[in-house]
Amino acid sequence: MEFITDYNLEELRERFVSLGLEKYRAGQVLKWLYKKLTTDFSSMTDLPKEQRRLLEDTFRFHPLEKLDRVDAPDSRKYLFRTHDGHIVETVLIRERDHLTLCVSSQVGCAVGCTFCATAIDGLRRNLTSAEILDQFLQVQKDSPEKIRNVVFMGMGEPLANYDNVRKAAEIMVSPWGLDLSKRRVTVSTSGLVAQLRRMAEDPIMRELNLAVSLNAPRQSTRESIMPITRKNTLSELMEVLVKYPLPRYRRITLEYVLIKDLNDSKRDAEELAELLRRHRKRFKVNLIPFNPDPNLPYERPELTRVLNFQKVLWERGISTFVRFSKGVDVFGACGQLRAKRDYVKISNP
Ligand code: SAH
Ligand code: SF4
Repeated sequence: MEFITDYNLEELRERFVSLGLEKYRAGQVLKWLYKKLTTDFSSMTDLPKEQRRLLEDTFRFHPLEKLDRVDAPDSRKYLFRTHDGHIVETVLIRERDHLTLCVSSQVGCAVGCTFCATAIDGLRRNLTSAEILDQFLQVQKDSPEKIRNVVFMGMGEPLANYDNVRKAAEIMVSPWGLDLSKRRVTVSTSGLVAQLRRMAEDPIMRELNLAVSLNAPRQSTRESIMPITRKNTLSELMEVLVKYPLPRYRRITLEYVLIKDLNDSKRDAEELAELLRRHRKRFKVNLIPFNPDPNLPYERPELTRVLNFQKVLWERGISTFVRFSKGVDVFGACGQLRAKRDYVKISNP
């Protein structure tokens, strides 16, 4: 099965030529698809009828099947099924003045962070770029308002699925595609150093917003909760980030999940401030109080402890914000998604 959302403009032009169509028809079709969200060739009225029929026989639009939508006051979770039976989760979040879509890049995750529900079952497989993009298309079609921001913070480690994430992001930010602002598409990574180096040299990827999940101010603590740090050491990671080519007025976001009695002490905050001191203009810190999960052995710190942690950083000149994930009470938030087995049973009677 061939999905049109797996092609960027250039590739689609070539594919159209191989089908005997004129090159410029590719641009026409993508305009219908990404500007008007038309997912039906027969409505593309500026194409000759026989071409529309050929396209209908050749391409499909949606690799994902929408199973369900769960609504909370400030967010919605969508569940999709892939052709091979995997469940993909996507969360639409209402922020103060815009909508943000949290997309998944993999089914599961191989990185194995001990505080993350997505890690529990390991990695099943990478999502294709069409599967990543289809999360956007299907949710956008279901929403009255335009989605302004996309964050790769759903299931999976986006940089472990580099090529497919890159293609999906290219389609999201290109003028011939969804035409989202590059600073409003955020790739969040646990800090894969080699892929970050690749990203720094990549004209599409380096323009996107970058978030790095730091989660601890020193190697030993980081290693105890993020096994990938044994190879991707904190010092190597910081070296890449300090050199990372940032567009003007842009900062790298450092995410820090605050876990009770593990990484939330005053000393942790002070060491984090020290780690960032010389480059504090380059970074901002998002503190995310841990979202509890019955399968995970950690707790969320008290709010005063979170605020004290933030205060230490502010006093040392580091912009620091507290981010509570939305929709936590209803279904577990963005960043800790895990398709529930019981759900799969219900949906596959
Ligand atoms: N794999 C990527 C992106 C997906 S995780 C990454 O790790 O950055 C998105 C964010 O959710 C990460 O910052 C991660 O640290 C955070 N997260 C994971 N589990 C969490 C939990 N139980 N509570 C709060 N945040 C969590
Ligand atoms: Fe994977 Fe991110 Fe979860 Fe770590 S926090 S296991 S990298 S999804």
